[in-house]
Amino acid sequence: GLLGNIFDGVQRPLPSLAADESGPYGRPFIRRGIDLPSLDRTARWVVTYQVAPGDHVEEGDLLATTQETAALEHRIMTPVGVSGTVTRLGESTVSIVEPLVWIDDLPLPMLTRWPVRRRRPSSERLDPRAPLITGQRVVDTLFPLARGGSATIPGGFGTGKTVHEQTLAKWSDADVIVYVACGERGNELAEVLEEFPELDDPRTDSPLMQRTILIANTSNMPVAAREASIYTGITIAEYYRDAGYDVALLADSTSRWGEALREVSSRLEEMPGEEGYPAYLPSRLSEFYERAGSTISLGRSPRRGSVSVVGAVSPPGGDFSEPVTQYSLRLAGTFWSLDSDLARRRHFPAIHWTRSYSLYELDTWFDESVAADWSEQRLWAIAILGQEDDLQNIVQLLGIDVLAPAERITFQTGRILREDFMQQSAFDSVDAFCPLPKQYWMLKVIKHLHEQLIDRVDENTDMEKATSLTVLTDIARMRAWMPARAENLARELITAIDMEADSL
Ligand code: ADP
Ligand code: MG
Repeated sequence: GLLGNIFDGVQRPLPSLAADESGPYGRPFIRRGIDLPSLDRTARWVVTYQVAPGDHVEEGDLLATTQETAALEHRIMTPVGVSGTVTRLGESTVSIVEPLVWIDDLPLPMLTRWPVRRRRPSSERLDPRAPLITGQRVVDTLFPLARGGSATIPGGFGTGKTVHEQTLAKWSDADVIVYVACGERGNELAEVLEEFPELDDPRTDSPLMQRTILIANTSNMPVAAREASIYTGITIAEYYRDAGYDVALLADSTSRWGEALREVSSRLEEMPGEEGYPAYLPSRLSEFYERAGSTISLGRSPRRGSVSVVGAVSPPGGDFSEPVTQYSLRLAGTFWSLDSDLARRRHFPAIHWTRSYSLYELDTWFDESVAADWSEQRLWAIAILGQEDDLQNIVQLLGIDVLAPAERITFQTGRILREDFMQQSAFDSVDAFCPLPKQYWMLKVIKHLHEQLIDRVDENTDMEKATSLTVLTDIARMRAWMPARAENLARELITAIDMEADSL
């Protein structure tokens, strides 16, 4: 009953609260002290038992499964700390509080509890070796996030943090999404609540909400619950990880969470640290990010699962030197730096290409799984973007004419990479999700154009002509390619590039 549900930070079920209570002003409102069980005690689940009386079970062993939603089979595990012999099985349909199995004659229900501040144990932690595929070109190709890794995305107001988090919630190839809306405005969350139930999961064709859990703490909800919300979210994420799923936890924003820590700490009259944040801010942040990981679960037939964490940071005034940004930066393996200038120029996602990075070693995976020269192309693109950045400075001071012919080509390639490859609209039906092969072929075309031109131009070349080929309009339209046709269209375009380059 977790999937599709909406909780507040202390895991009170908001839909049931809304149905249950009418507050002041005639609208559903959380009354002080109100409490309801997090999960529906009356719903009945059809279970398939994985054990029989007489079986010995240990913590982490699978007891039963039930289809939680069309998108996901819920695996009921032996709770941590429990082991013994199964002496009796429950009914074939049970609620979460009725006995599911008896272990050494003690009844055990499906419902389990876990203190949210403590990480759930696993038998082994693995090095993240595969990416979490997001369908965002600037992410997957340039700054990928590992499955079981962590990323931080700082940016000033309006730079696209929320859109990015929601895009990842929609498109990343995790089995379960935990979206923690933490201290942001209520209307943004209202959009999620309206939009998600209507969207279909591209992988299962069932509604996206069926794999999503929302933890909602808007700016007008109590700060203590906001502090708890991050822990609640990651504990739920770990629970599904232990069941053998890939989970993505998206938190928007950890700055508002930091502010909740600060507020609670000042009410407790603790000694303030940097910028009024409590001295334990860094250790709390690291406890959070360190719960990301790729693991092997407990139990005798262990399952592989992962929790990937993406934390948005909204530094006041867009100043990245403030504590929450700085500590997050040290903890996360991928850094997507949002840039206000890019956002102002409507370059979205406004992830800055020279300031962002990914520390995960994923090249091998991409080279083996997508194309042998994936990482070579990626390094090429990063190099060109760096060179273009340097050339920009020269051009701004002295004008484009001072550039040597080859430099002008590099300058143009940089622009194509920025405008036609890295920009991606989250609101375009085709472009919102770009599968890896399409990303590869788009980049291949741009690299091919670059190499064709750089080989041919010299002092005698008509540079006006060389930088205004008609194929450029086709390149600008690559983003609209239907993914299934990307390879064919790319090969056609490569032929067209060769022909036009020959005529120079
Ligand atoms: P933040 O959460 O950082 O304050 P938002 O995520 O709300 O900023 O983004 C602000 C606006 O920027 C959005 O309303 C949208 O118009 C635009 N935007 C951000 N990212 C994208 C994107 N990937 N594609 C198209 N538009 C975007
Ligand atoms: Mg936002």
